[in-house]
Amino acid sequence: MSWSKGHSSLTENSTAPTIDRCINCGDHEQVQATITMEFGEGNLNTGPICRKCYSIHKGPRIAQF
Ligand SMILES: [Zn+2]
Repeated sequence: MSWSKGHSSLTENSTAPTIDRCINCGDHEQVQATITMEFGEGNLNTGPICRKCYSIHKGPRIAQF
């Protein structure tokens, strides 16, 4: 009975914590943001980044969506 909360993870909700594979460290962590990282010349990789890496790499080279 108390289970019925209608929880759904299908809709994108920026306030809900998301666990995904961090594109920087490869760990499954709580995602802080979706970023675009540059690996060398013109090699862009867009994906989730965990809170740890986000705090380390936060800077002008990262565009947060
Ligand atoms: Zn990470």
